[in-house]
Amino acid sequence: MQRTRPVAEDRGEVGAMDWDSLRQSIASCRSCGLCAERRQAVPGVGDENASWLFIGEGPGAEEDARGEPFVGQAGKLLDAMLAAIDLKRGEDVYIANAVKCRPPGNRTPENDEVAACFPYLKRQIELIQPKLIVLLGRVAVTSVLGQDGSLSSLRGKALSYRVGDREIPVVVTYHPAYLLRNLPDKAKAWEDLCRSRALMRSLKQ
Ligand code: URA
Repeated sequence: MQRTRPVAEDRGEVGAMDWDSLRQSIASCRSCGLCAERRQAVPGVGDENASWLFIGEGPGAEEDARGEPFVGQAGKLLDAMLAAIDLKRGEDVYIANAVKCRPPGNRTPENDEVAACFPYLKRQIELIQPKLIVLLGRVAVTSVLGQDGSLSSLRGKALSYRVGDREIPVVVTYHPAYLLRNLPDKAKAWEDLCRSRALMRSLKQ
């Protein structure tokens, strides 16, 4: 597997921030070009002590307007996916994105933009200390795992992300926006969700 996340300087101070400082820092961030056209940065939403952390790609137009991730069409599908495994936005669930600012025209974020934003996501993971991370789509995989494999090669694999001396299990699945365009793959996403739920049950025992 090729590593594609450029080695980003961790911008030391981010690694020591509490939630308030982190939110302020994200709101005023100018580390990459995405700040130029954002209406506002979209840090994430939910329970800051959640067991579940879902990570998407980046805000779209509606998220940029409202300041909350996954509130457009893809967000409705994500909410339905959560409901299918008895989860609800904000209840033991945190939702974040690989990049916190909207890429113009909703294009895919570039690797250097993902790398520039990674210290924020890394700190969110450290603060939340989730039991399980679900990566929604390729950009989230690149950000968190530093890997650029195809989603189909990563789905179903035992993956993890290290925080200190903890290995947090990671499940890779399709991005809801992709599923809206590729309905047959919904069945595979359902398999991933069921696997996630089973994994969480074992982690909570
Ligand atoms: N797609 C994402 O990846 N994140 C959002 O917040 C909205 C759509």
